Amino acid sequence: MIKGPLVATTRDELAAALKGVRAAGGRVGFVPTMGALHAGHASLMAEARSRLAPGDALVVSIFVNPLQFGAGEDLDRYPRTFDADLELCAGQAVDVVLAPSVDEVYPGGEPEVTVEPGPLGTVLEGAVRPTHFRGVLTVVAKLFGLVQPDLAVFGQKDYQQLVLIRRMVADLCMGVEVVGGPTVREDDGLALSSRNEYLSADDRVAALTLSGALRAAVDAATEGGDRALAAARDVLDHAPGVDVDYLALTSPDLGPAPADGEARVLVAARIGSTRLIDNMPLHLGGS
Ligand code: AMP
Repeated sequence: MIKGPLVATTRDELAAALKGVRAAGGRVGFVPTMGALHAGHASLMAEARSRLAPGDALVVSIFVNPLQFGAGEDLDRYPRTFDADLELCAGQAVDVVLAPSVDEVYPGGEPEVTVEPGPLGTVLEGAVRPTHFRGVLTVVAKLFGLVQPDLAVFGQKDYQQLVLIRRMVADLCMGVEVVGGPTVREDDGLALSSRNEYLSADDRVAALTLSGALRAAVDAATEGGDRALAAARDVLDHAPGVDVDYLALTSPDLGPAPADGEARVLVAARIGSTRLIDNMPLHLGGS
């Protein structure tokens, strides 16, 4: 039988669980999640583990963070699968699962001091979900304070989140190495997401349009940004039941896309009552 991770639900239990590793000069790797774990999360754990030595510790947090959900979003119905999550963590040799209550993370309710994401928090996802990144950055800053990791791994699946976390760590001198892991997909291209389980069979077919559109942009990228965007738009325009929030082409740090060189194409759409996001890297032009 695989030895399961130690479960810490309070900051004291977490400190006790990591005391030995810290005393011996070991490093701590960290993968924050909201649970409902899948192979995408597992890949981040494997990435963290590959960067750690035998005496180091791998911590995964499972916390559905109310602060990053807007009014009318899916906080209450967000999937919670704790026992299966623990099994997945055991399979990835996770040492400690931090699973705190909302009160443990936010004693006394919403914090008065929060992390302001700045201009990058108001575009793309931030334009549709105005309080989202404030909630994300605040909880990540708090979790960094609790876990005090040397390195933390985040998915490129939530690309704007990854860019903003890098920005926060740099701007606030947090001293954590931030690693971005590639998006894990189903064989047909659909990006794994805890929210995919909301999809009906018909929705699941429509959801494929997102990765299909991004793939079309990647395939047209040598012809330049305009052609890449038009190719993606064409796929989205022909998809019934896909309500697009945005399709955008940017530089890798989410600024204006270059005429030539590395770029990112990002999409968000509502399919029925489910909102999905996806993105891919691409190389524009022929250089
Ligand atoms: P979540 O539990 O959705 O908050 O995600 C926790 C972490 O897993 C975030 O850093 C996500 O970007 C990452 N993640 C989610 N889906 C995927 C995926 N399909 N591939 C790789 N990483 C992912």
